[in-house]
Amino acid sequence: MRIAFARAGNSPIAACVRSGGISLIGSLVRKGSLVLFSGEIEGSLRLTCDRCAEEYEHRLNEPVELLISDGIFDTQGEEEQPLAVVEMSDGMIDMEAILASEVQSIICDYHRCKKCSAI
Ligand SMILES: [Zn+2]
Repeated sequence: MRIAFARAGNSPIAACVRSGGISLIGSLVRKGSLVLFSGEIEGSLRLTCDRCAEEYEHRLNEPVELLISDGIFDTQGEEEQPLAVVEMSDGMIDMEAILASEVQSIICDYHRCKKCSAI
């Protein structure tokens, strides 16, 4: 799902994308020069436990809030943003790319399977 930046206004528009058993569902609303996505990520992901190296099914159900910039986000002169800023290049909000980067950051985290987190 790709949404033109110009479509994001003061009233939220629905945005959702689904890929590989994971859904990102939420809405987009204009925040100054940026667009705020708020919603949640749901589904399940196969992860490898960092302790015992066993694969396990990780259930996802987490809130996601991030800002989207049309082009390179210039932090100079802008207020410090508490949220991550995702940069888009062609005037379009690419929901697949946002989902992929969210999934990537989850994969890069430290994980423990159920057995290990119970220790
Ligand atoms: Zn483990």
